[in-house]
Amino acid sequence: MKPRILVLGAGFGGLELTTRLSEAMGDSIDVTLIDRSDAFIFGFSKLDVMFGHSTLDDVRLPYSSYAKPGVRLLRETVTAIDPVAKRVTTDAGMHEADYLIVALGAEYDIEATPGLSGANEFYSVAGAEKLREILADFQGGRVVIGVCGTPFKCPPAPSEAALMLHDYLLERGLRDKSEISFVIPFKTPVPPSPETSAALVEAFAERNIAFMPGKKVESLDPARKSVQLDDGSELPYDLFLGVPKHRVPPVVIDSGMSENGWIPVNPRTLETKYPGVYAVGDGAATGTPKAGVFAEGAARAVADALIAAISKSGEASLYSGAGSCYIEFGAGRIGRVDVDFFSGPAPTGVYYPPSTELRTDKEHFGASRRARWFGLNY
Ligand SMILES: Cc1cc2nc3c(=O)[nH]c(=O)nc-3n(C[C@H](O)[C@H](O)[C@H](O)COP(=O)(O)OP(=O)(O)OC[C@H]3O[C@@H](n4cnc5c(N)ncnc54)[C@H](O)[C@@H]3O)c2cc1C
Repeated sequence: MKPRILVLGAGFGGLELTTRLSEAMGDSIDVTLIDRSDAFIFGFSKLDVMFGHSTLDDVRLPYSSYAKPGVRLLRETVTAIDPVAKRVTTDAGMHEADYLIVALGAEYDIEATPGLSGANEFYSVAGAEKLREILADFQGGRVVIGVCGTPFKCPPAPSEAALMLHDYLLERGLRDKSEISFVIPFKTPVPPSPETSAALVEAFAERNIAFMPGKKVESLDPARKSVQLDDGSELPYDLFLGVPKHRVPPVVIDSGMSENGWIPVNPRTLETKYPGVYAVGDGAATGTPKAGVFAEGAARAVADALIAAISKSGEASLYSGAGSCYIEFGAGRIGRVDVDFFSGPAPTGVYYPPSTELRTDKEHFGASRRARWFGLNY
């Protein structure tokens, strides 16, 4: 019988893992990839949708375009995971595996921040779409961009939102009638890279964006239009753009695999404490950022380990904990930071200042994944 590999979640992690397995082993393995959605959407596309640079249709990558030898992609919702038996229940039936990989990402715990359900968040596709309409009707006022908890996906994304909002309001002639405040629990925008952080802080100052580091949004009072911060202070707002608290999806919590909100793993091999069960991407507690490039890197390491184990040849690679993040600085320019979490005693970051060339690089990043995973042309 062919080895059965069950991958839960067709996001950054699941797509890269199954693509690599298919490239190396094709029909000699039996891979099942399960996702409840009908399309993949890059995280950064949510900012483009929110600010009206793209429509949802422009950025949806339908799973119907995904076809890889040896891999079956099923549209099902995972309802229970038994990591001991490597058995998974979905709304359509049961799946058993020799190897199980949990790549279900992180979800948002809106209720964890009192009042947030009566305001707006821009981290989900639905939230970004709703904000696109709300922003179009906005006529100026006090805007607060606020982070409700750590860890959160793509640490530079709220900084990008602040800079993109500045451009958006400027273009609509509303910048003079608006104030932008940006609340983030970190002491600096991108902690592993002082140079990137300094450039972002300078960009905020140039644009009169009030940067409020080291503070977290504790709750909101939508009736009074006020945000309460964890230092006891309050901020009035006309429009709130939030980053909700994150956690693993409830089905992972119910499986008993998570501890303190995330799935413990060996950070270099992504093995969980259950034999033959791995976790990759945002749900795994690796100590690296919750970002697509890191989910991909972890997925590559697991794929190589499985290929080596099944084919009894080749070598398992370790997850490097390194990756490049593109950062929208506004005015069409993009910067980059290359972060490395495992090579030294502390995380490091190398900064590349914003340029139009790096915009081309970011476009290539998206286009290369569209081609690799979905066979779509550049
Ligand atoms: C605003 C924003 C900007 C970002 N910008 C960047 C960026 O520039 N670069 C970058 O690298 N990263 C960026 N990210 C982060 C990136 O999107 C995530 O870190 C990445 O998608 C994580 O990959 P993953 O495979 O762990 O999870 P995901 O890609 O989230 O995939 C998880 C999958 O699991 C599925 N799923 C969940 N629960 C179930 C269930 N019960 N049953 C079936 N299927 C289920 C979901 O439908 C989803 O497809 C950004 C994120 C946001 C919100």
